[in-house]
Amino acid sequence: MSKALERALTSLSTTLSTASVDIPALPADYRLRVLVDLPRHSRLDAVLDYLAPEPWPAGTLVRVPLGKREVSGIVWGLAEAPDAGADTTDTPAPTLRAVTQALTALPPFSAGWLRLVGFAASYYQRSPGEVGLSALPPDLRDLDAVQLARRLKRLDKARVAAAKAAATAAQVHPPERPTLSPEQQTVLDTLAAVATVAEGPPQPSLLFGATGSGKTEVYLREAERVLAAGRQALILVPEINLTPQLEARFAERFPDRCIVSLHSGLTPAQRLQHWLSAHLGHADLVLGTRMAVFASMPRLGLIVIDEEHDPSYKQQEGARYSARDLAVWRGRNEQVPVLLGSATPSLESWYNAGPVDAGGGRYRRLVMPSRIGGGHLPAVRLVDLSRIAAQFGKQALRQHPLAPPLLAALRERLDRGEQSLVLLNRRGYAPVLHCTNCGWKSACPHCSAWRVFHKLDRTLRCHHCGITERVPRACPDCGDPDIQPMGRGTERLEEQLADLLPGARIGRIDADSTRTKGSLETQLAQVHAGEVDVLVGTQMVAKGHDFRRMTLVAAVQADAALFSSDFRAPERLFSLLMQAGGRAGRDAELAGRSEVWIQTWHPEHALYAALRRHDYEAFAAAQLAERESAGMPPFSFQALLRADARTPEAALAFLEAAALQAQRLPGAQEVLVYPPVPAPIHRVADVERAQMLIEASGRVALHRLLAQWLPDLKTLSSESATRVLRWSLDIDPLSI
Ligand code: ADP
Ligand code: ZN
Ligand code: ZN
Repeated sequence: MSKALERALTSLSTTLSTASVDIPALPADYRLRVLVDLPRHSRLDAVLDYLAPEPWPAGTLVRVPLGKREVSGIVWGLAEAPDAGADTTDTPAPTLRAVTQALTALPPFSAGWLRLVGFAASYYQRSPGEVGLSALPPDLRDLDAVQLARRLKRLDKARVAAAKAAATAAQVHPPERPTLSPEQQTVLDTLAAVATVAEGPPQPSLLFGATGSGKTEVYLREAERVLAAGRQALILVPEINLTPQLEARFAERFPDRCIVSLHSGLTPAQRLQHWLSAHLGHADLVLGTRMAVFASMPRLGLIVIDEEHDPSYKQQEGARYSARDLAVWRGRNEQVPVLLGSATPSLESWYNAGPVDAGGGRYRRLVMPSRIGGGHLPAVRLVDLSRIAAQFGKQALRQHPLAPPLLAALRERLDRGEQSLVLLNRRGYAPVLHCTNCGWKSACPHCSAWRVFHKLDRTLRCHHCGITERVPRACPDCGDPDIQPMGRGTERLEEQLADLLPGARIGRIDADSTRTKGSLETQLAQVHAGEVDVLVGTQMVAKGHDFRRMTLVAAVQADAALFSSDFRAPERLFSLLMQAGGRAGRDAELAGRSEVWIQTWHPEHALYAALRRHDYEAFAAAQLAERESAGMPPFSFQALLRADARTPEAALAFLEAAALQAQRLPGAQEVLVYPPVPAPIHRVADVERAQMLIEASGRVALHRLLAQWLPDLKTLSSESATRVLRWSLDIDPLSI
């Protein structure tokens, strides 16, 4: 722990126990337990006791003094009231400070919401104060009672006006509902039956539906059912840029309903307004990214998790929660049906929806294998790069990003006025610059990574620490002017395609081309309007977007994931290619000639073989068998302890000491602690990163150990011999 933090905490604990001057002259008859957001790794408990003149119920938002500040808190419950007759001689009660304000204009959070916070905190080994308060919109945490009252009044006015407008809109344009496909009908019948089971929490359902099978229509009908019953629905999507599209579809279907979104792209004021609408029960539908899993919804009746396999559902900092997993827990906790949807479910969910005798059965599996309109899934073609190399020479491959047959296929699309998508998961012009004379390469001085060459502004940029420099005129080591790009990124591919396909309109969508607000929308609109013939993009275009006139998707460099050290890499590759293929041939009429092209050195690989047959089930079965024999998730449970330090030795020393602590804990023999290793990119911005994997065959054993370990880890990180800059525990880590 830093000196400054140490001092802050010491002064905090002294003020907490000695400051009595601040207590207002209110009759403080009750003792409340209040959640506050304390600094991380603080040795104080994040549930603090305060005096209060009234027994405000659990879930009430309050303002409390904390050290020298006043902060927001959430009443967690009633502590024992001070007992006048008690003998206080041997343990003098600490002098407590009083709650400054209770924001009673806001209805308290429900017991279900508080349980969700409590569960998330204990599962992800964080404090309930941190989880609870970070779940609130930042603006809410800054309001006092007067400001809040003003906001609520404004919100109410806006609501009345919106409701009137919506009612007329619904009369003018009654929504059109398509006739359900037989598969959709069967799925909805099953879901309706699940919903009427009288007792206990409904079983979550996994909707395994091909791309274009009409999963969204199922979500819409399910939402319709719960809205008609007077409940609210929560719809989660993985990416911000998928929310406008989905919001439009829901708004069209439910013109007279209040729909709000929750994601990080909103202004603080919008986020507060949307959040309040959900909390007050005004909003019937809440659409959002992972943060929306914590939306407070008093009438919650349904949770949908679209593209449930998407890694974006996992928060990558702070409390590293999985919104998908929390949503499933929330559904059970509030006895609400949960619907997970995907064309390529995560292997965890697939396993949970598998046969009971194989360990599954926690989810119900619902299937929709056919595309709406009877469209075929695109044919998958593998380009064997070793054959191409034999035929045209390796040099030709290096110079041309696309093998001749693929190029011919692109030209065919151009001639027919159809669109193509070429995927390359690497932005910039070239991943490395090098000197042809001495072998110098554009390493980042602060990271264990190369700086990427961006040709547009002639910079070398590190994608890890962000350092940006102009490209040197000559080699920094030997002065030779001949420095050359090595390899290929999206910028270079765009340039090469423009050369190879004269006259074609080439577009590019990646994190660089969409940096400014609204630019992604503009570029997508251009693609939809047919102003782009060939779109070059990273995986950000492979998800969810519905490109009608696209009949070819090509992945030019997919192989790396086949041999990655991350055991989830093949799963991600398969799903990326299936999803990308799902972009092609959305128009049933064009589906017949839609193709997915994959350039590979390993055409015989089982992953590609399954992909050719669109056989997710075979792929999943093979992967699950592999994971079972290797004892990997979902057949085991993992946590990753990460440490950041100035030197690799310090980071590793902390983890080694931590491993020794773990060995001495009860239950240690049920848990496997791997040796600490440097992180895959071990240095970022001059900070050395190391990690240690912890694994158990049972969740309970793992969590029992972690809970006992955490206090020891806090002590360890504050001791001088094992001091580190940062450490964190990642439960169910997605990338190892
Ligand atoms: P998915 O999410 O499963 O990939 P979508 O929900 O986007 O598929 O549906 C694909 C297309 O089919 C959409 O354009 C949708 O409007 C249309 N669609 C869905 N259900 C029906 C139906 N029952 N009848 C006609 N069109 C439908
Ligand atoms: Zn050189
Ligand atoms: Zn760097």
